[in-house]
Amino acid sequence: MDLILRNGTVVTAAETYKADLGIEGGTIKQIGTGLGPAKRELDVAGKYLFPGGVDVHTHVEFTLLGETTVDDFHSSTIMAACGGITTIVDYVLPNPGQLLIDAVEMWNGRAKGKTVIDYGLHPTLFKPTERTRGEMAELASDGYTSFKIFMTGLAEFDHYAPDYLKAMAQAGKSGAMINIHCEDQCCITFLTEQLEREGKNNVRHFAESRPRIAEGIAAKRAVDMALLADAPVYLVHLSCEEGLDALNDARARGQAAYGETRPIYLHLSKDRFKDEKDPERYVGWPPLRDADQMEVLWQALDSGVLQTLATDHTSFSMAQKKKHKKVEDLVPGMSALETMLPMLYSEGVLKNRLKLSRFVDVTATAPAKLFGLYPQKGTIAIGSDADILVFDPKKPVTIRQKDLHSRQDWELFEGFKVTGWPSMTISRGEIIVENGKFLGEAGRGKLIKRKTFTSP
Ligand code: MN
Repeated sequence: MDLILRNGTVVTAAETYKADLGIEGGTIKQIGTGLGPAKRELDVAGKYLFPGGVDVHTHVEFTLLGETTVDDFHSSTIMAACGGITTIVDYVLPNPGQLLIDAVEMWNGRAKGKTVIDYGLHPTLFKPTERTRGEMAELASDGYTSFKIFMTGLAEFDHYAPDYLKAMAQAGKSGAMINIHCEDQCCITFLTEQLEREGKNNVRHFAESRPRIAEGIAAKRAVDMALLADAPVYLVHLSCEEGLDALNDARARGQAAYGETRPIYLHLSKDRFKDEKDPERYVGWPPLRDADQMEVLWQALDSGVLQTLATDHTSFSMAQKKKHKKVEDLVPGMSALETMLPMLYSEGVLKNRLKLSRFVDVTATAPAKLFGLYPQKGTIAIGSDADILVFDPKKPVTIRQKDLHSRQDWELFEGFKVTGWPSMTISRGEIIVENGKFLGEAGRGKLIKRKTFTSP
């Protein structure tokens, strides 16, 4: 045996128990008591052993609205590792006119030599054509088994809706998931023009430009289109009950429809736009919502209405965030990979909003199952990759930008106090983070060719 973790508390989506874990050749070889001997043995009594986090929504290195993220595949994946995340699935955004396959190759080129944890890729569809559909079939058979669609103006969704519907049908035929950003551009344009007329087109009124109803309209349309196209559908970063209603209705009729939320909607409300300094820091698509929606989302996450939590990690400097003044030009996104799991544990599990088993399910097991990574990733079981988060549930930490590993020059949760923090991160049997120090080698992360969709 290469490594034995002794006396830890193993937590999976199904059970919690004390055991030793024996690791060999990068996978979990034994689970039991009194295992050994091994080349290295660690006593992890008092620690939780979680499956390493699987974050299926990241933008670790890309350009949006002319701004390039300050983190790249290297710094972003170091942050992820330090935050207990051992797998990411990143979004490929092709340049205008670029073939999907070329964009995927470009993304793998960026990851090469830099990424420190395993990764997969979701290609994004822009104005899909017949040729795109051929590429989708080819990519799906090559392990890229999910495709992203934006319903907003970014993808000119309304204009190309028939083509997006055809692409959804192609995804269904190819065994691939359709991931959809649900916000209705017609509503956003109407309200943005109204804010402009009222002299309110600025960051303080950002949330009003993209209200809950815009998410609800789009989410309903997305699940209906996916039903028509016979494709499994995954609604990314839902932020309010209008989005959840669409998801619930779809699931009630037996549709393969799933939903994700994102840390900002659990921990922050739109009051932040009112009087805080630098409100640009809170800008994401969709916007922060009323405070009552935070509890709605916690309940949905705990009860299983929502399946996953993902970061939508996108790092921009404060200068980049402050560059634009009008709501339609504000750069959305924030660094989030290092804080997602400790914030969820502290605010969710410790405040009795989220069961411990659900913590593991939403951050590892469910995303791995939905995106063709399970059981290699997303659980602690014999034969699974030894991707393990050794979590100290008692450690008090005050979140400070200076202690984190992002190149972003500000931190969304600056000053938040949490209890519980990763003490060690293991990726394929290798200890890559110990007590906040990254020990792994750049480029050690591998591209994972994912399986086609099967209903979990
Ligand atoms: Mn995103």
